Formats: sequence, C-alpha cells, structure tokens
Amino acid sequence: MDFRSDTVTTPTPAMRKAMAEALVGDDVYGDDPTVNDLEQWAAERHGFEAALFTTSGTQANLLGIMAHCERGDEYLCGQQAHNYRYEAGGAAVLGSVQPQPIENAPDGTLPFDKLQAAIKPDDIHFARTRLLSLENTINGKVLPLSYLAEAREFANKNGLSMHLDGARVYNAAVALDIDVKEIAQHFDSMTICLSKGLCAPIGSLLLGTKEYITKARRLRKLVGGAMRQAGVLAAPGKLALTEQVAQLKQDHLNAKRLAEGLNLIEGFSVNAEFVHTNIVFAKVSDSVNTHELVAKLAEDGFKVTAGNPMRFVTHKDITAADIETLLEKITQYV
Ligand SMILES: *Cc1c(COP(=O)(O)O)cnc(C)c1O
Repeated sequence: MDFRSDTVTTPTPAMRKAMAEALVGDDVYGDDPTVNDLEQWAAERHGFEAALFTTSGTQANLLGIMAHCERGDEYLCGQQAHNYRYEAGGAAVLGSVQPQPIENAPDGTLPFDKLQAAIKPDDIHFARTRLLSLENTINGKVLPLSYLAEAREFANKNGLSMHLDGARVYNAAVALDIDVKEIAQHFDSMTICLSKGLCAPIGSLLLGTKEYITKARRLRKLVGGAMRQAGVLAAPGKLALTEQVAQLKQDHLNAKRLAEGLNLIEGFSVNAEFVHTNIVFAKVSDSVNTHELVAKLAEDGFKVTAGNPMRFVTHKDITAADIETLLEKITQYV
C-alpha cells in the first residue's frame, strides 16, 4: 500500500497483453504503427493538430517550452510549478530559456496583476516574455475553468503562447465532470502523463500544432529521447487514456475520505477545501514524530513519505479498505 505517489501504479493485465501484442517498427523512421496510432488518436481526442510521445513528463515540458521559446526568451510560471521546481532547471540549462516564477495564489492560480507586472517591455535589457505556463492539477488542486478562459484572454492581449503542464489533467477533468477538451481548448500546447494514476509504465504526450510538434520532434532527438520500437510503450499508453480514466473517480473519493479521517486525528489537519483530486496534504503538529510514524507504518506494509505537510497520494492500487486501515494505524500510533 504505497501512498508516496500515483507513479507507483503498475501496468494492468490488459496493458501487459497490449505490450506483448503491439505491432512495432522503428519510430525514428516514423515506422512504428502503434506510436503513430497513439499520436494521431491523442491529437484528435484532445483537440490538437499533432502529438508527440515522450519518455517522461519532464521531457514533454522541456520540449514544450523549448518549442515555444528561443534562447533569451522567458516563460511565466508558478513558484510551485513542476517545470520550475522539479525538472532540474531544464528549460534554462538546455534551452537558455529563463523562467519568471510568480507566487501561486492559495488555489493554485497565478494572479493576473502579478503576471502583468512580470511581463518585460521590448527593450534590450530584458529577456523576451513569450509564454505563460500553467499546471492543472497543481498539487492536486483543479484550476477553475473560468480562470483558464481569463488566462487565455490575458495571453492573447499580451501576445503570449499558453502551455499546460497537464500531467494530471485527467484528474482535473474527472473532478469537474467535464470532457478534457474543455480544459485543453484554452492552450496552444499541453502535456499529459500516462504513467501516473493512469497506470502506463512509461511515457507522456505533448500536444500542439503540426508545426510546433515538428519542432518538438527535432528537439526530442536532440535530447536523446527519440526511441525505436516504442510501440510496446505506446500500446499501454493508449489504454491509459481509454480504460483507466474512470478509475480516477474512485481515487478522488478515497482521497476525500482520507482527508476527512485525518482531520479527526489529533495532531493532523487537512484543508479539505483543497482536496479536489487524489492528493492530500496534512499539516502535522510538533507532537507527532513523522519519521517514527512512517517507520511504524512501514512495518504494517504502508509506504508513506515523512515531512510536514505529509503528502498522501491515492491511485488504482489503493482501495477504500486500505484508507480505513491506514487511518486506524495512524490513530493507533500518534
Ligand atoms: C510528474 C509530473 C511531471 C513530470 O513527469 P515525469 O514523468 O516524472 O518526468 C510534470 N508535471 C507535473 C505536474 C507532474 O506531477
């Protein structure tokens, strides 16, 4: 029972079968029918002209930013953005693209007055502000659809392109009970992670116009991310988006229940208002030794990350019964 992340899910039996049976070819020649099928299907499914299968979400974001920006350009993003904090500074290191982070509001949005103030004038002193990069979900929170529409207007007004780090965009769509296209429609480019709660073993997608994806494909080669018989990975990737999305609803219910339960345990407090999807952050009081707690839970077969706040992530391999057992054990140990 692994609560550390939704990346720990393993391929479903249907995925294993699809991997074994996938038709393959050399994707660097464009010859892999299963990769081609995934890319064409995903482009259409999400309302874009083209798609690119990448090795990871980090790579999809890197190519995504580099395909929008040239050396000396900058992108606006959140202080909490994955593509600012957790991707080893790739856009800056490999693309010479400067991030301009903005403090996220408590709901995860980036306030327009702060964004406006960060946009640089056309002047030789400054980097060229080219791109607004949002993340949805962000730390499990869903950005309101109305905010996305306003962000699009803001970007248009200021001549910016818009990129979505949509690693968990399906969690957002399921939480809002809308088609994922309603989110995607506001963006020039979007990434999707296939290997988080959706259970594919490896891979992400980058979506955009034909011209943009052609540029990203060249960049993928440059960073060593072009693969050969990648159909064995694309086959489970398609099943992630066709068969696993329904599971997310249960993951969200489990997270809600976990949040409610933790709030009843002395020393734990969760802002339940922000538990929109499958991630729960619990503030822990000083009276709780989280390292000791994590060690005791490990003896019972629970993998949990220590820290404050403590982060718990639900996914396909966590059941409603597991949530109840975890709550009982934590109650017992604190
Ligand atoms: C996990 C994640 C990524 C990166 O995905 P990897 O496949 O781990 O490289 C990017 N953005 C967000 C929001 C993520 O949660």
